[in-house]
Amino acid sequence: MLLNKARLLTPGPTPLPEQVRLALAQDMIHHRKGAFHDLMFKTQAQLQTLFGTSQPVLPLSCSGTGAMTAAVEALFAPGDTVLCANAGKFGERWTRIAQSRNLHIVEIDVEWGCCISPEDVETALAEHPEAKGLLIQLSETSTGVLHPIREIAAKLQGTDVLLVVDGISGVGICPCPMDEWGIDCLLTGSQKGLMLPPGLALLALSERAWKVCEKNHEQNAGCFYFNLPAERAKLAKGETHFTSPVNLIQGLSVSMDILLGEGMEALYHKQWALTQLCRRSIQAMGLMPFARSNYTWGLTSVLLPDAVNGIKVVQDCAERYGVYISGGQDVLKGRILRIAHMGWIDWADLVAGLYAVNRCIVENGGFCGSHDFLEQGLASYRAALEGETGTEPVLLHN
Ligand SMILES: *Cc1c(COP(=O)(O)O)cnc(C)c1O
Repeated sequence: MLLNKARLLTPGPTPLPEQVRLALAQDMIHHRKGAFHDLMFKTQAQLQTLFGTSQPVLPLSCSGTGAMTAAVEALFAPGDTVLCANAGKFGERWTRIAQSRNLHIVEIDVEWGCCISPEDVETALAEHPEAKGLLIQLSETSTGVLHPIREIAAKLQGTDVLLVVDGISGVGICPCPMDEWGIDCLLTGSQKGLMLPPGLALLALSERAWKVCEKNHEQNAGCFYFNLPAERAKLAKGETHFTSPVNLIQGLSVSMDILLGEGMEALYHKQWALTQLCRRSIQAMGLMPFARSNYTWGLTSVLLPDAVNGIKVVQDCAERYGVYISGGQDVLKGRILRIAHMGWIDWADLVAGLYAVNRCIVENGGFCGSHDFLEQGLASYRAALEGETGTEPVLLHN
């Protein structure tokens, strides 16, 4: 592989722009002095735009799961009832985190490949009016499904149920304006849509979520490391509670300039067009997306024909073509492919990836489908770029 590029089409980590890599290579600056404060204030304004919130967006030194844990520890106390939306591997993770906090858990279970509907939430809430929160993903990365967060938030209006959204594979990829939709906690990680290495998480709370969080801390029920009120107080001074991940913040400053440089609409338009490129190409190959409806952006899950060994396809794509994609997890191992097109991925990377996927499927006993699958995908890509779509959180039903 010395003479060729490796292409990372995985749902985290994702490739880094050269400007971000150069920013990461800078020497340390001190995390309690002026230059760092300036960097924090600048990125804070950009993060608020990205999250669609007027509340502070806290940088935390941890992977995305750390922020999920911080949210549960901050907002709920042992014995509280929470609804956990379980539609895949990451929904399951909410349940396990809630268990570790000794919460009373009510799972809203749907078959993998399906999304949680607003009616599912309404029913669970009617049966459990004592519920204090709903824990859900924006995008369920294990199946490629987008949950209808805006509609679910509307169902929770007028209740005291806190809506906690794991946006790790969605923020910076598809629209999820926190304040406008009425989300109480939105969080993400650095290594997916944000074009950064792993290790930084970002979390914001609504005004009423802050009240709950403060109350929990007053009662000594909060977490020592993830002390969100302390983080908020430090952030107001341009700092973090403990030592900051200095170079990730330096990288963040540059990645935010790139992500927001042409405006949020342009960002979502690009991600939407890539999603169309991938989905259409896959369909032209004669394959089905694994998601039944409400396909997510930034990731396409592909159901393989029974005869094709998915583990082998993933391996061959890497070894023969330098294209790194993901397979299925747990029960989906070997049965699906997950092709990510989030972060610093453009149409040419994706075309290379789709070509490799097609060849490896054929070489492993599958069929090719239409030979012009890439042209069909690119036609959809162009149409999506020229069209209006991309600014709206469109829910697709085939
Ligand atoms: C990747 C991912 C996670 C896990 O993030 P880590 O950074 O590995 O802790 C959680 N939820 C979703 C939806 C993800 O895509």
